[in-house]
Amino acid sequence: MKYPQLAELLNQPQKHNTVVVRGWVRTFRANRFIALNDGSTIENLQCVVDFEKADENLLKKINTGAAIEISGKLVKSMGKGQSLEVLVDSITILGEADPDIYPIQPKKHSFEFLREKAHLRVRTVTISAVMRIRSALSFAIHQFFQEKGFYYIHTPIITGSDAEGAGEMFRVSVLDPKKPPTGPDGRVDFKQDFFGKETNLTVSGQLEAETYAQGLGNVYTFGPTFRAENSNTSRHLAEFWMIEPEMAFYELEDNMALAEEFIKFTLDYILKNCDKDLAFLNHRFADEEKSKPQNQRSAMGLVEKIKFVIENKFKRVSYTEAIDILKNSKPNKKKKFDYLIEEWGTDLQSEHERYLVEKHFKAPVILFDYPAKIKAFYMRMNEDQKTVRAMDILFPGIGEIVGGSQREERLDVLEKRIEELGIDAEELWWYLDLRRYGSVPHSGFGLGFERLVLFATGMSNIRDVIPFPRTPQNATF
Ligand code: ATP
Ligand code: MN
Repeated sequence: MKYPQLAELLNQPQKHNTVVVRGWVRTFRANRFIALNDGSTIENLQCVVDFEKADENLLKKINTGAAIEISGKLVKSMGKGQSLEVLVDSITILGEADPDIYPIQPKKHSFEFLREKAHLRVRTVTISAVMRIRSALSFAIHQFFQEKGFYYIHTPIITGSDAEGAGEMFRVSVLDPKKPPTGPDGRVDFKQDFFGKETNLTVSGQLEAETYAQGLGNVYTFGPTFRAENSNTSRHLAEFWMIEPEMAFYELEDNMALAEEFIKFTLDYILKNCDKDLAFLNHRFADEEKSKPQNQRSAMGLVEKIKFVIENKFKRVSYTEAIDILKNSKPNKKKKFDYLIEEWGTDLQSEHERYLVEKHFKAPVILFDYPAKIKAFYMRMNEDQKTVRAMDILFPGIGEIVGGSQREERLDVLEKRIEELGIDAEELWWYLDLRRYGSVPHSGFGLGFERLVLFATGMSNIRDVIPFPRTPQNATF
């Protein structure tokens, strides 16, 4: 490559003398100092223009957002704030950015504003740092599983089963929405649709991953999933990425241990490999916390939180213990929770999860053995006939980050559950076959990738950690 990337240049300056660099102008100060950035690193390269020699018309075009090429000499900087700078010999304007209309100006923009400019927001310091960390986390995820001998598998995005049991789905159809063919009962006749049946976008690759675990042993998926739930929260997207490992011969304890090791590995990876981006986000996080009322501030800084998670064992707590703790908690007794905990069997809301993690245990928590009633059909029934081998990992500031379970491997028990829940067993014939032929205990979990990125970057809205968020009423770009 003729033009070195700034990440490489700033890391190994001794290799460079006269340089040609390309990038975008972040700022241009005093008709003299260009802060150039090419996205490869959070650091800018200061380029010093001798404005007495420079052409005035050209100087006018050096605006924030413009793409330029600079050649000059790389020298030690005399100024504060950077160790190196380029003494500019020549400048070429590659692409102008009219300062009267370019939306990303060198000032503080709100994240709400930037979401409307999602095609340009990656040029900001914060979003670019987040996206570099997102990339590093993806890599760490593959590295973790590959080094452990897991196989990466691709499960279908279009699914014909509606039994995945994780909320509302998006239909995939080529039928004319204005005049769909109907059957004798007057309902839409999906036999005439593309696949000859009703199909949807997947909400999880788990069921298919289970089939592969019972042939390849340990596998994982890492792909997009879709949920048409109308949850307008800072932790939900309609399209998000999920990592779903599935392991033959793993019981629930093995599953928990793997999930904990996995999360710690990925966070440790970014501590080691994304120090500059993290240092910036650490500052940003601290600033944001300062603007909150004292009693709502995070007790720890961002990097501190990440280290805390890596260094401390996650607390393992049964659902039944958790209910006792919540029932007797101050906010429950003083009726401060929106949903009061009255009896065993109720589903936990995010406020309860966060109380357990942030106030009671002050550590990530793995909740296990949930009531069967509130969990999916495929989770393994315990001997008490009331609870299933489910586990959720709860994180500070996030709530649920992982949902998983040991799967029911006994055909008769599974069939009974399916019947009780009124699920169409015929649809699941292939899933039930796994319990007919060489069935073994097995487990798996799903980690919502954006929730991990949210935690790792200290951002407060999930819409700011995915390039183009899909949420109710919003699919621009
Ligand atoms: P929640 O209760 O937070 O809505 P869930 O119980 O529906 O989550 P699961 O079906 O267990 O979630 O999915 C596994 C993981 O996927 C969750 O632990 C979470 O990290 C992530 N996840 C689930 N729904 C979403 C969503 N709409 N947007 C982003 N991530 C999600
Ligand atoms: Mn869940």
